[in-house]
Amino acid sequence: MEFQFLGGASEVGSLGLVVRDQGRTLLFDYGMTPTDPPSYPRPAPVNLDVAVLSHAHLDHSGMTPLLSRLPKTRMVATPVTIAVADLLTRDALKVARLEGYLPPYTTNDIQSLHGRYTAVDRHGTFRHHGIEIELTPAGHIPGASMMLYRGNRDVLFTGDLQAIPTHLVSGAEPLECDVLVMESTYAGREHPDRKETERRFRDKVAETVERGGKVIVPAFAVGRAQEVLMSLAASGFETYLDGMARKVNEIYAAAPEYLADSRRFRRALEGVHVVEHPGDRRKALREGEVIVTTGGMLDGGPVLFYIGELYQDAKSSIFLTGFQVDGSNGRQLLDEGTLTIDETTIHPACEVLKFDFSAHAGHSELLRVVKESGARQVVLMHGDQRELLRDALAGSVDVILPENGKPFSV
Ligand SMILES: [Zn+2]
Repeated sequence: MEFQFLGGASEVGSLGLVVRDQGRTLLFDYGMTPTDPPSYPRPAPVNLDVAVLSHAHLDHSGMTPLLSRLPKTRMVATPVTIAVADLLTRDALKVARLEGYLPPYTTNDIQSLHGRYTAVDRHGTFRHHGIEIELTPAGHIPGASMMLYRGNRDVLFTGDLQAIPTHLVSGAEPLECDVLVMESTYAGREHPDRKETERRFRDKVAETVERGGKVIVPAFAVGRAQEVLMSLAASGFETYLDGMARKVNEIYAAAPEYLADSRRFRRALEGVHVVEHPGDRRKALREGEVIVTTGGMLDGGPVLFYIGELYQDAKSSIFLTGFQVDGSNGRQLLDEGTLTIDETTIHPACEVLKFDFSAHAGHSELLRVVKESGARQVVLMHGDQRELLRDALAGSVDVILPENGKPFSV
């Protein structure tokens, strides 16, 4: 079998893996990197038979609309992934236009992609012209799946994975395989204890509210915002939700089997005030104690409005909940205590803290997934410190660290 990464081999972003086997051509994920300017993977092969989408995040899905232009490609994903990827790619198009970049595809491409999809359930199997792909939950976010391709050898592609259960989803359920293609975002790094992190988060929220401040919680719309809301659910704070997350909530609420506990999810959302119109934002500022809002890295979205209103208030807090990529406003806030809005640099007086709500498996959990899969060969992708995982696996399995664009055989 021949493998080739179109992108995302040694970095987090723009993932795409082409697999050629027995005259068939498959593609696993096709993402972009939503930086400013955005970056894209290499072009997909024209003769693509099947493209598989592990989950909706843009670094995995952001280029899939282009696949609707290929002559015969069938697409596979869970129904939740299809719905959320539609939302995210439409939003990416809007952002590209706002920022003045020529988008790589059109709304028509996003629309026609639906005719290519076969929706497959979380434990289902896709079959097409002798190609067989079995899905199994990846943890991470609702709908995220690992994909087992049964070919000349059995190849399990993890997409992004989380091995421990969270509020939103149960942990990953790896299947046995010969070759494991695994994400390595957290290679060499462990997460702090999740329960302890959440306790500290709720304590710090309470502290802010008690001293008369507001808490702004920037959170990614897909997965993180919901996880944060569930973590706060029992605490009784006046909580407002703003941004695209509310549309994602509707998709999740309609697919209870993809949630760890759909009743708890619904109950958590019942207590949350949703900002429907920009006019509601004043109300959120007046009456809210906690405002959960996009964008997660402070580079755009309603979060900038709230920060613009509250940054001089030393009683208020900004609690980051996600990974802050280099060059983002969130990273600048953590490293330098400043952020830039409309070319003006401000120095918030608020308390700034970061909490690790990661949806990715840490180093030792990744090692456990390798063991559970029984794979003899492991391809490490989607990480910039893959060597640390390779060293930890040395001697037990054969490890490959691929490079973008460079074909290799397994
Ligand atoms: Zn992801």
